[in-house]
Amino acid sequence: MLTAQQVKEYAKSAGADLCGVANMERFDGAPEQMDPRHIFPEAKSAIVLARRIPRGVYRGIEEGTHWSNYTFYGYNRLNTWLLPKAQYETSCFIEDHGFEATPVYPGVAEAEPSSAPRREGQPGPNVYPNIRIAAVAAGVGEMGWSKVFMTKEFGPRQRLCMILTDAELEPDPLVEPNTVCNLCMECVDYCTGHCIPHIREGKVVEIQIEDKTYRWGDVDMGKCTLTHHGLNKEASPFLALDCPGLRMDVSEQECSEEEAYKLTHSVGRATWRKTPEFPTGHVLDYAYTMMFGVGYYAVCGARGCIRQCMISCEEGGRVEQTFHNEFRKKPMWLLDPAGNASLKED
Ligand code: SF4
Ligand code: SF4
Repeated sequence: MLTAQQVKEYAKSAGADLCGVANMERFDGAPEQMDPRHIFPEAKSAIVLARRIPRGVYRGIEEGTHWSNYTFYGYNRLNTWLLPKAQYETSCFIEDHGFEATPVYPGVAEAEPSSAPRREGQPGPNVYPNIRIAAVAAGVGEMGWSKVFMTKEFGPRQRLCMILTDAELEPDPLVEPNTVCNLCMECVDYCTGHCIPHIREGKVVEIQIEDKTYRWGDVDMGKCTLTHHGLNKEASPFLALDCPGLRMDVSEQECSEEEAYKLTHSVGRATWRKTPEFPTGHVLDYAYTMMFGVGYYAVCGARGCIRQCMISCEEGGRVEQTFHNEFRKKPMWLLDPAGNASLKED
């Protein structure tokens, strides 16, 4: 016998901040390549764990003085160590009770086109569920308009992972749509990638789980990825140092997410001859340092989709974790899109 309550208590003792359970029927309608039932057909429950991103991880970028905390603690170590540790230990706890537990690797279906099915009637490898939608199905929270996953505990500040198990656990109630995201559109106004559509544009993604309909903006992931990974001069002070003459208005680009990843990550890892003008030998110095030192680099600082969103949630009283002080101490900065590395206030 194993109960949802026991799993949740253990997951929290192993480091998770939040834990929710979905029954597998909630994945009805999922695309084949994202349906977790193709990974573990006998699974009865999907357990989603969340760990918070501390608000202070965004402090250095908010000040305009320190970027590396965001890459290291907001992404890399949270996604590759702290969260998987809780996921792994919870999986072992479930298996100690005689049920199989599959911790799911957080890949993305879009990044890996499937190969031929190994058996008739099932998709080819690799099947990757959408972790944010799984978290909605597990009642952990909802999708914000910006496509960032939101909870009433931490607003837009958490990372997620999933365990599939053949233990039949009591599912959590679904969160009512727009409990946390009130469609304020502040993420749209503050997004440096100009990639989150305003609700009046009608670009909407919609899913149905049981009797609830969740909707969010159809975010232009090409523009977001160019910005997030450092090729937007409005967001990256480092690009202005490495390519002072480059003029590339991200709002005019029409590339896909994969195209943007291909470009940002290969340029970020690239080297060039050392010259007096560029003595390091790296094409993008900060990107190279982070890619080889940490394995990832994030530059945007989620200016609209997390920083402004959490301000909206805190000011609106829609988030349970409260602070003695407001996050924003000064007007928010924005870089000159012409490549001037000095900070200017928005
Ligand atoms: S800023 Fe946050 S709460 Fe406001 S619309 Fe965007 S996602 Fe929703
Ligand atoms: S990461 Fe940056 S560019 Fe992407 S949606 Fe968030 S604010 Fe916009």
